Amino acid sequence: MPSVLVNLVGGTDARARTTFSEGLVEVLHGKEQEQISPLRTLDEGVTGYQFELVALRSTLRKEHNQDPLDDDPEETEKLKNLLKASLGPLPTGKLRVTYGSSSPHEILNFIRDVGVDLFDVHWAQHAAEIGVALDFRFPAPNPSEVLWAQHPCPKPRSRTSHTIDVGHNLFSHDYAHDHSRLASSFLDGSCHSQLSATTNVDAPWCPCGACTPVPFTTSLTHDRLTQPPGKPTSTLPPYTRSYIHHLLHTHEMSSHTLLAMHNFFIMDAFFSGIRDVLHRSQTEAGLFEREVERFVATYEDPRRLFTETEKDWAKVESERGKGRLAREKAAQEESEAVVQDVEVV
Ligand SMILES: [Zn+2]
Repeated sequence: MPSVLVNLVGGTDARARTTFSEGLVEVLHGKEQEQISPLRTLDEGVTGYQFELVALRSTLRKEHNQDPLDDDPEETEKLKNLLKASLGPLPTGKLRVTYGSSSPHEILNFIRDVGVDLFDVHWAQHAAEIGVALDFRFPAPNPSEVLWAQHPCPKPRSRTSHTIDVGHNLFSHDYAHDHSRLASSFLDGSCHSQLSATTNVDAPWCPCGACTPVPFTTSLTHDRLTQPPGKPTSTLPPYTRSYIHHLLHTHEMSSHTLLAMHNFFIMDAFFSGIRDVLHRSQTEAGLFEREVERFVATYEDPRRLFTETEKDWAKVESERGKGRLAREKAAQEESEAVVQDVEVV
């Protein structure tokens, strides 16, 4: 079968989407059938189906007169209903691909409720561009696990009494003196080497170039096909949150490179965790659904974090230029002085 993925169209009209899909599985006759012979339906000639979520999202917002930058908590539900309308008439065994998911929460929703198989990770690349270091796992970490106890590291910011962010806004001045590794939920290579030398614990660790830097004499591999993943070969300390905070504020491009390497690994581990839980769900009914609920109960949807970070990113971008750091330091000292005055009053 040729590798053809059909873009399922129909816009935001559920009936139009269903009609398009019905056309794919309809048995053709006469001249139409001759054109696709020996196939009987158009669907017999395709490998799978794909959805362009960016265009759908934009149309939905226009139809509801929403600002393109405003968040709609119901958006994932609306998108799911449109995807289901398209997939209803189609066979369940073919590949389903989406482009433009906006969060790990949305990805989990699409897997659980729509059976999507493949995703792009543009949102994680965007996170790196605006200065967010991702810090989450699936399944969500158990708070009592040994990783926290032996190598403590500040978790992302709490939004409610029970949820934390999926990453860190490294533009924030809160990170100026935070000399920890990027992710609290993954050890860096150096910590992992120490832990595995003294215990049998196989703690999750991040082999990215930021968390596990390697000496200049070592060849860099950017995929897992060239070299199978193994234990870290270096005990160099990781690049820290404070260092990347400094790079971001001085417009060093290496900040985004380090963050992109890290964020891609976090997504890699996220999908690996999903595959593992789905595999175990075959013998443990309801496991995936329970883990999705636990993930949603642990991590806040990243929209608020992204909105805040984009503001900080835009501020630093607009203020770039010689002497900016000195001006910024003076402004920060001024605002701290005001806070002290208020406290004295
Ligand atoms: Zn990393």
